[in-house]
Amino acid sequence: MKTSEVFNDLINIVGKKNILTNDEDLTKYNNDWRGFYKNKSLCVLFPESANIIKKIVKYCYKKNIKIVPQGGNTSLTGSSVPSYNNKEIIINFSKLNKILEIDKNNLTLLVESGSVLSNIKEYLDKQNYYFPIDLSSSGSCMIGGNIATNAGGINALKYGSTKENIIGLEIVTGDGSIITSLSKMKKNNTGYDLKSIICNSEGTLGLITKVLLKIFPKPQNNFTFFAAYDDLQTCIKSFNQIRELYYDKLESAELIPNLSFEVCIKNNFLKKHFFEKKMPWYIIFRLNLYEDKNLFQDIFEKNFNKINKNISDILLPHSIDQEKKIWKFRDDLVEAYKMEGRIVTNDISIPLNRMDSFFKTAEKEIKKMSSKIKIHPFGHIGDGNIHYNMILQNNISHESYLKLRNKIYSFVNELVEEYGGSFSAEHGIGQIKKNSLLKFKSKNEIDIMKKLKKVFDPKNILNPGKIFDA
Ligand SMILES: Cc1cc2nc3c(=O)[nH]c(=O)nc-3n(C[C@H](O)[C@H](O)[C@H](O)COP(=O)(O)OP(=O)(O)OC[C@H]3O[C@@H](n4cnc5c(N)ncnc54)[C@H](O)[C@@H]3O)c2cc1C
Repeated sequence: MKTSEVFNDLINIVGKKNILTNDEDLTKYNNDWRGFYKNKSLCVLFPESANIIKKIVKYCYKKNIKIVPQGGNTSLTGSSVPSYNNKEIIINFSKLNKILEIDKNNLTLLVESGSVLSNIKEYLDKQNYYFPIDLSSSGSCMIGGNIATNAGGINALKYGSTKENIIGLEIVTGDGSIITSLSKMKKNNTGYDLKSIICNSEGTLGLITKVLLKIFPKPQNNFTFFAAYDDLQTCIKSFNQIRELYYDKLESAELIPNLSFEVCIKNNFLKKHFFEKKMPWYIIFRLNLYEDKNLFQDIFEKNFNKINKNISDILLPHSIDQEKKIWKFRDDLVEAYKMEGRIVTNDISIPLNRMDSFFKTAEKEIKKMSSKIKIHPFGHIGDGNIHYNMILQNNISHESYLKLRNKIYSFVNELVEEYGGSFSAEHGIGQIKKNSLLKFKSKNEIDIMKKLKKVFDPKNILNPGKIFDA
């Protein structure tokens, strides 16, 4: 099969303006967000409708051409870029981006899968409705990518991950069949729940083309506060108290170590520390309010004696602007941390009651590997989902860095398993965690996943080399 022949056939399907074949143009789509993977694709296609996607897949099925589905390419596991060199085409969803229908009776929104998450949120905001999934990458990631990774983010504490916030899907499977399951009924127990299988399938079972989202009335207001703590145990105790007190209101609780301020200041994402006196741990809390904010402020102050015992310092933003600055600091953290160069990123979850012990044991062992490692754990403490990250010294060779990184990954994953947690809480498996999946999932679980893969994608053309080798 000649590449020029394939290009001509694909141009006939998508049109000349919707294909890139030049190496230089392809770089942006070939490389992952962290710069870990750099395999070349054959071309990138930008289809404008589900019907065109169906035609592309039917063609690839016939010719045995492998496909990488790609949204905003913000994956942190290498799932949105080629696994092999010059063997795959990328289907990028950015031109499938229409918001189709809001239904205020049934509280649903129908969108095309290439809609950028922040565009969906802004559209709803203007109409006084709310879609709760919120990530630091919201301005680039697309709803299809969010579903394919079952993205969690800062509001999963109250609303759950993406899976809990979708009602229906339309997909194209690996032989080019379209499956449309877009009933607006939330109660719909009619056979297997296909959307749950597609959630978190990382583009290996089907290409998502349309999505029916669950939407919510917009909270009247939000209330943010930033609390500082002497130690992690007290911090977790305080989180539990605050959750008990404000359970149905509590939308986010983000753990921040003091090192985060240093990293953001050093990399010019923040001018100065938010607190006068530095403490080892902080949590940024956000409550959704359905009542007047001033009224709630009084309630909060009256209730404060119930929670103040464990809190060492508290910042109540004095303006919307300061509130935005606090959340921008949280959003910038991933980007600022990436600028530190030699980094190790673990996306884990640990039962809250064992988190303090996990942190102590892990730190002790990691410092034995190299005393220069700075541990930088942050994230969604309410779900027990911590980005247990590290900054290594920059003056080590690339080989030493990779060796140390792999040693840390193995150690952390083993320990997480021992503590009854998950070695991939919200970012998925992609290319980077395939070995861990084989190690920690049972043979029966892997076998049934492989059988499912065959049913949805009989020729293994959809995102090969991701999750496991089929
Ligand atoms: C700064 C930053 C912060 C982040 N914060 C979070 C966070 O808090 N929580 C979290 O869960 N993740 C987070 N992520 C990871 C990432 O943003 C999410 O996983 C996001 O959901 C990926 O969306 P995307 O459109 O960029 O998908 P991509 O990265 O393009 O693709 C991700 C996966 O989805 C597949 N895919 C994409 N579109 C489709 C489609 N239409 N049909 C089928 N498969 C498809 C791809 O093949 C790939 O397997 C963050 C990433 C960055 C860079």
